[in-house]
Amino acid sequence: MKMPGKFKTYCPFCKNHQMHEVEKVKKGKRNGLHWIDRQKDHRGKVGNMGKYSKVPGGDKPTKKINVRYRCLTCGKAHLRKGFRVAKFELTE
Ligand SMILES: [Zn+2]
Repeated sequence: MKMPGKFKTYCPFCKNHQMHEVEKVKKGKRNGLHWIDRQKDHRGKVGNMGKYSKVPGGDKPTKKINVRYRCLTCGKAHLRKGFRVAKFELTE
């Protein structure tokens, strides 16, 4: 999908609609300490792999992205729930 780099939306700090700048939130570093990393180590073994049996290769076709909205009036940023999209672009 394409998204404008700046658009007017609700700012929870100003409590009304303001111009916002869109920032893509970078994915956090994987340090291998999460339970999902240990689960993924079991991939490739025989038998039913639970949720990994549904998608061969493991990864889902779309990635969830997080977008941060920075209010240009007060300078504060707020997050909204991430959504799934195959490709994400910011347009001017
Ligand atoms: Zn604001």
